[in-house]
Amino acid sequence: MTQICLKPNTRLAGSVNILVMSRTVTQLTSPGDVRDTWERPLHDLRISVIDRCNYRCPYCMPAEVYGESYKFLSRQHWLTPGEIKRVAGLFMKLGVAKVRITGGEPLLRKDIVDIVSSLSDLPGLDLALTSNGTLLSRRAKELKAAGLRRITISLDSLDEEVFNEMSGGKGDVSTVLEGVEAAHDAGLSPIKLNVVVQKGKNDHTVLDLIDRFRGSNVIVRFIEYMDVGTLNGWRLDEVVTSAELVEQISSRWQLKPAEPNYRGEVASRYLFEDGQGEIGFISSVSEPFCGDCHRARLSADGTIYTCLFAKNGISIREPLRAGASDADLVGLLQNLWRNRIDRYSEQRGKGKTIEKTEDSRIEMYRMGG
Ligand code: SAM
Ligand code: SF4
Ligand code: SF4
Repeated sequence: MTQICLKPNTRLAGSVNILVMSRTVTQLTSPGDVRDTWERPLHDLRISVIDRCNYRCPYCMPAEVYGESYKFLSRQHWLTPGEIKRVAGLFMKLGVAKVRITGGEPLLRKDIVDIVSSLSDLPGLDLALTSNGTLLSRRAKELKAAGLRRITISLDSLDEEVFNEMSGGKGDVSTVLEGVEAAHDAGLSPIKLNVVVQKGKNDHTVLDLIDRFRGSNVIVRFIEYMDVGTLNGWRLDEVVTSAELVEQISSRWQLKPAEPNYRGEVASRYLFEDGQGEIGFISSVSEPFCGDCHRARLSADGTIYTCLFAKNGISIREPLRAGASDADLVGLLQNLWRNRIDRYSEQRGKGKTIEKTEDSRIEMYRMGG
């Protein structure tokens, strides 16, 4: 049988760069049994379907650095809905049960409904999508009808001025709120609302967001500002930790910690003591969760990354388009995961700044946030 395999002793994961295809008799363990070097299984897959975006959030795709120089992935390299479905199906053989479609802004892809529809054909898959909400009011019903179950919408502030700045001068609050409403009406529930908190930018507006959504079916989740990619000029002193936020919020509403819904849940949950629902905190900087990280990422051009902070990935598009069999591709994924060593957030140095170098890590909007 033809297997896609690695040269002996090839190191993968955070420094994936040496992949060779060869004919070999290497025996791989059965699918569904894959663990990385830290015994972490593979459960989740983020699929970035596009690296373009209609926002220029300074913490992700800052307009001033981004400029003219950046080249988007070429459309001909984008995986088609059928290819995305095939790759997701292969990941499912190794234990993936949840797929989140993301980007860039996934709703900018004209065939997004076809992508959702293809993926929702995969039996037993928990399918979700993350969007900035700008194009949602006109697509929510179609997405639901195509099989989407849940949606996460990003909205950093209800204050127009603050939000405008945090979307790079592109977003307006009312459009996103219309998207939230449309998602609710379409039955995409529960809706999660992602809020990246940056010190001095929007941290003074978090209580307003909670006030607006408390007691509704929208679960607000605060995300610590992360040092993803190389463009955002991240500084530790711009991070508002979840602990600081919990303290700030508790001065207004009584909170109690809640058990995670499942092992490896990224957000820590807190319930309002008065029964008005819950909020979540994603503490990637102050409390890294690498030990429970069960997630792979697939970019729009079919590159697989095993960490949000990876500098390299491997292409599944090339062997896939060259006619590799499912067994070949499962072997490739198995080998990739088994050699995974990533635990960047746990190793992150305090007080570091990001250097923009040739060999720097992949941007979040490319590999999927
Ligand atoms: N464009 C869509 C959106 O914004 O929802 C999907 C892609 S975006 C990269 C996914 C999530 O990553 C968003 O909720 C965004 O706020 C978050 N994000 C982007 N850059 C981040 C950063 N530097 N730190 C923390 N979260 C970030
Ligand atoms: Fe676009 Fe989302 Fe990045 Fe903002 S966070 S620039 S909306 S991809
Ligand atoms: Fe997972 Fe840790 Fe990498 Fe984040 S830094 S993607 S938690 S391994």
